[in-house]
Amino acid sequence: MISPGDIDRGGRLLPQTTVDVDLGVLARNVRALKGLASGSTRFMAVVKANAYGHGAVPVAKTALANGADFLAVARISEAVTLRQAGIDAPVLLFGDVLPDQAAYMAANDIRATITDIETARTLSAGLSQQPLKVHIKIDTGMGRLGFVHSPHDGNARLIEDILAVHALDGLDVEGIYTHLSKADERDKTHAREQIRQFRQLLGQLAEKGFAPKLRHAANSAGLIELPESHFDMVRPGIALYGLRPSPEVDISKTGLEPVMRIRSKIIQVKQVPKGFGVSYGATHVTPSPTTIATIPIGYADGYSRQHSNCGIMLVRGQKAGVVGRVCMDFTMIDVGHIAGAAPGDEVVIMGVQEKEEISADIIAELTNTINYEVTAGLTGRMPRRYLNTENSHDI
Ligand SMILES: *Cc1c(COP(=O)(O)O)cnc(C)c1O
Repeated sequence: MISPGDIDRGGRLLPQTTVDVDLGVLARNVRALKGLASGSTRFMAVVKANAYGHGAVPVAKTALANGADFLAVARISEAVTLRQAGIDAPVLLFGDVLPDQAAYMAANDIRATITDIETARTLSAGLSQQPLKVHIKIDTGMGRLGFVHSPHDGNARLIEDILAVHALDGLDVEGIYTHLSKADERDKTHAREQIRQFRQLLGQLAEKGFAPKLRHAANSAGLIELPESHFDMVRPGIALYGLRPSPEVDISKTGLEPVMRIRSKIIQVKQVPKGFGVSYGATHVTPSPTTIATIPIGYADGYSRQHSNCGIMLVRGQKAGVVGRVCMDFTMIDVGHIAGAAPGDEVVIMGVQEKEEISADIIAELTNTINYEVTAGLTGRMPRRYLNTENSHDI
């Protein structure tokens, strides 16, 4: 019997299309990012959405081994995955918490995010033995989750709510945080205003004698470009994976490198005449005789159908364009200009091959999205292959 585990770990039985995740590169990225903050700043590795598609457990273990202190996820199921893998580092849940999960979270050292007073009261009422560690979230201008800043009354209402959370039985307020909505833009005016509001609130709370231990605000862009957003802990996600938060953030001097590559192989090659229709709907009709290669990746793998007639892959160090529509399981490319292209040839879908590179940014641009969605959108059907260029053995 072959189990999926043999396929993922052994390497022998890998399907043609794999996601290669280089944990050595990840380790270097974590250390480089840590070096951007002061030595006393804690480091929270954001591993939500299966570590942006890279695999939460190996990524979390590598980040922790290279100096991360905390992990963050968005869903309780993601926190459970980390605990079931034996990872015992502190985990913060960014997302919503249901009252019946509070006891599990308290017992498993998972921190909840508190975004409003009603939820805090409900959680408190449901807790019996162990206290639940919580981080209070302040919405200083993201417009998503958190207690809303109330400048009209000098934050009186906000402070009252926060102190009420602090006073609730069973809840131990370990941290307080906010999230920046425009730190990745060249113009940092809004990000600085968010930080100013957060700092002001922290001052007001301190006057009332309340100073949560971990104050945090910085995503990757904040960590890289706004030292004033670092506070007690930084929370990088995308940069861990060697990707830039946006085209407006320059990561060229940080030494970050992409952790992920997507590779496949040509499974069939056919010589076709002029006028040959390719894929569903025959949206591509060959303008002249050429060679079409079929690649076993499709939208069910997270290879967006937006690549239809515009994607690019690499074969024998050369670019080859996607022709026709991307199917659920297969995509066709035109390799008429690539001498000798044959079944079994390596195809790089994302990453470097010889002198060419297809980055997550290029894919994002071609498919009208952002690099975050490119990697986080990859599905579980493609096995992740973990390599470690740092100590040169596969784990
Ligand atoms: C996703 C997320 C982060 C990480 O953001 P990046 O831009 O990937 O660095 C940090 N904090 C919160 C609250 C998040 O949701």
